[in-house]
Amino acid sequence: MRRFRHAKILATLGPASSSEEVIETLFLAGADVFRLNFSHGSQDDHRARLETIRALARRLKRPIGVLADLQGPKLRIGTFAEGKVALAAGQSFRLDLLDAPGTTERVRLPHPEIFEALVPGTHLLLDDGRVRLNVVHATADYAETEVVNDGVLSDRKGVNVPGVTLDISPLTKKDRADLAFALDLGVDWVALSFVQRPDDISEIRKLVDGQAGIVAKLEKPSALEHLDAIVELSDAVMVARGDLGVEIPPERVPMAQKRIVSTCRAAGKPVIVATQMLESMITAPAPTRAEASDVATAVYDGADAVMLSAETASGAYPVQAVEMMDRIIQAVESDPQYQGIVEASHRDPEATSADAISAAARQVAQTLGAKAIATFTHSGSTTLRAARERPMVPILCLTPNLDVARRLSLAWGVHAVIDSGITSFTEAVQRASHVAIRDGFAEPGERLVVTAGVPFGRAGTTNSLRVAFVEDV
Ligand code: PGA
Ligand code: MN
Repeated sequence: MRRFRHAKILATLGPASSSEEVIETLFLAGADVFRLNFSHGSQDDHRARLETIRALARRLKRPIGVLADLQGPKLRIGTFAEGKVALAAGQSFRLDLLDAPGTTERVRLPHPEIFEALVPGTHLLLDDGRVRLNVVHATADYAETEVVNDGVLSDRKGVNVPGVTLDISPLTKKDRADLAFALDLGVDWVALSFVQRPDDISEIRKLVDGQAGIVAKLEKPSALEHLDAIVELSDAVMVARGDLGVEIPPERVPMAQKRIVSTCRAAGKPVIVATQMLESMITAPAPTRAEASDVATAVYDGADAVMLSAETASGAYPVQAVEMMDRIIQAVESDPQYQGIVEASHRDPEATSADAISAAARQVAQTLGAKAIATFTHSGSTTLRAARERPMVPILCLTPNLDVARRLSLAWGVHAVIDSGITSFTEAVQRASHVAIRDGFAEPGERLVVTAGVPFGRAGTTNSLRVAFVEDV
């Protein structure tokens, strides 16, 4: 089976989407990668979902990617005696380390490292920005603030400190336990929330130790300041617009999105646009026109993947949300303006033979109307460089490594399959022909562009390109 689009769909699993039946339906409807969100649910819930996905992948003989999303240092206030309080603009409100339940005068904020970073005039945003506090005075164990706007604050609401780089590890104790658990399960990607600096990626890379790809979630202004270095150190990136839109003003989110997508495309790193994409489909069977347009924008920008969160995790219409995303992507990609828009944002190949061959493959495939570009890879890197070219034809990825095939299910335009290594160009054309016919990409006599490294079987040598007619093998 194959998809008829380049951009991929990442669907979050949750209570609305944990049965075998729903997961299979989501995959058939278009979900290419599933997200296990460790901000919600127990480890047992995630294990059950992962096992269901793996069993489905074996049954359908298609690699399916799984991404474990770590909660990260999401700061939260404590609880209130009455569950919630109403705050009035202008009143004082204190955040402290005391255990006592909160009142209209104070509440616990059990993160000493925040108090260290606060100075008068710092703004704290609570409950996704619904309540804003202006710091008047801070010490090592409390902060006195002035409430900026009227609002209600309830138990355990999130706290964002925009514009301040906090001296905290990107991995909490819970994250470390979840990471070890997820790696043990054998997930393909791990996503790190609230990345602030390049070192955060280096820190997690030591723990991951090559067992999964690393996705940096960009949702802090400090991450945008170090964008190039973070992209360089990560294997993929997520534009995490939910928290990002609290940390920076909402009207700056579109620019940040375009800048992140473009930086990732230049680097050849998969980039995911996430959050609120079809938000209204949590409760309605059809999206707003603005949401359809938002998904389309990400696809025109050339993002590798678009993501669904609560729409598939806890919404009432999970399958319809994936179907809608699939339809929007296909509509964009069949728009005559699409190719021109993607080409206008194309980046020149770097001066390596893999990039030169990938750029040539795109050109040759488009000139000759070839049905696909076939790549052979052990690490996945050759295929990602081919995807960086954003050719208008599918990219077949033949790899002996199941891990690589699963990981590349996130990448733009890539159809990955498990296939044994090749020892000659004749064999490369035969293997590519076999896969192209079997999976519905081409018929005998049609053309393929096949890239490979000669001598065969050595990593990092992609240096040859052949135009081949599909053989009836
Ligand atoms: P979250 O990340 O859903 O884990 O918060 C995505 C975002 O913030 O947009
Ligand atoms: Mn987030």
